[in-house]
Amino acid sequence: MSAGGDEQIGQQAIRKLEPGKLVIASHNAGKVREIAALLAPFGLEVVSAGTLGLPEPEETGTSFIANAELKARAAADLSGFPALADDSGLCVAALGGEPGIFSARWAGPSKDFNEAMRRVEMNLQDKGPDTGRDAHFICALSLAWPDGHIESFEGRVDGVLVWPPRGENGFGYDAMFQPLGHDITFGEMDPDAKHAMSHRADAFAQLVAAVF
Ligand code: IMP
Repeated sequence: MSAGGDEQIGQQAIRKLEPGKLVIASHNAGKVREIAALLAPFGLEVVSAGTLGLPEPEETGTSFIANAELKARAAADLSGFPALADDSGLCVAALGGEPGIFSARWAGPSKDFNEAMRRVEMNLQDKGPDTGRDAHFICALSLAWPDGHIESFEGRVDGVLVWPPRGENGFGYDAMFQPLGHDITFGEMDPDAKHAMSHRADAFAQLVAAVF
């Protein structure tokens, strides 16, 4: 590692995250708790954007990484500390990747994911009985420093969509997503088992390997 904290790997300089304060650029308490738990072994002082009173930027990006980067960048610029943000969603192959970055918005203002899952299923059924049911979850993670440096990672888990939804665990679209190689949905899966194989676990593993 160089004195500046950047490590040269091929042409790319990956910056290491030094111990100190890290802002989790989310106003979702559940997400902040989950990310703080994942970062617990690394000796960081984790604080949330909500606790610091930082505003939530509008998610105007056209990709998961673009949205994660704009959230991380805004929090790092305003707080003066490194900031970590995520953006995630469900992409359905036969629907051209929808709902994608609009996954949360498909649940409407009341955040009704039974309705969002029904909308996915209706759209698939409209395409005919032979329509493929392949889907994947994506999680983008971006770590921004106040001096403008940014590192981003994208995790993925592939599966198929089932109907009707099954299982009470998890959140969002979990009850209709069956990961490849398994015969139960994320909604039926023990949370630890899901967290070991999810798109979020994949993205975190990449981040940890790169910046710690
Ligand atoms: P975000 O908070 O803007 O990243 O919104 C992500 C949305 O994607 C969530 O509200 C969920 O609907 C969906 N999503 C992301 N990850 C998962 C997951 O692990 N299981 C189920 N739904 C997910």
